[in-house]
Amino acid sequence: MSATRRAIFCDRDGTLIRDLGYLRDPAGVEILPGAVTALSEGIRRGFSVVVVSNQSGVARGLISLSEFQAVDRAFRQAFAAEGIPLAGVYYCLHGPADQCACRKPRTGMIDEAVRELDIDVGRSILFGDKDSDIAAGRAAGCRTVLFGADRGPDAGAVRADACIQSWDAAQQVLV
Ligand SMILES: [Zn+2]
Repeated sequence: MSATRRAIFCDRDGTLIRDLGYLRDPAGVEILPGAVTALSEGIRRGFSVVVVSNQSGVARGLISLSEFQAVDRAFRQAFAAEGIPLAGVYYCLHGPADQCACRKPRTGMIDEAVRELDIDVGRSILFGDKDSDIAAGRAAGCRTVLFGADRGPDAGAVRADACIQSWDAAQQVLV
């Protein structure tokens, strides 16, 4: 059986919620404008939403594990409250020095989701705001969409398939 499920892979901080830098306060969870509308439309079109997020703050000693967990709970609750089911939430808690297989730009989290959730990665799309997101998506075999970059797909070291300024422009790439 070949995989049939299509995913919208999303980075968390700076993509789904405001990036406040090593978020430790659950009250700081704020969904970015247009995300709920765009993801609802994506789900209507048959995509599942899967979060893939580097969270090295604990490994770096900047936040505690319980702070990380409280923010994660608030994050999941915020999307549940908006009626957006998250098919999977994958975190890399390692630091850059750990040389793990999951920290983006490596593909471990995407690969795990593909196996666990029966995802057709070639028909999936990754949204992120950093080159490491785009590099991971490309290496895994997704289409890639970069937020907030003032550069076209031919600029920069890492080429996204599309660059958009906000979720309001996501409808056209959710095909
Ligand atoms: Zn990792």
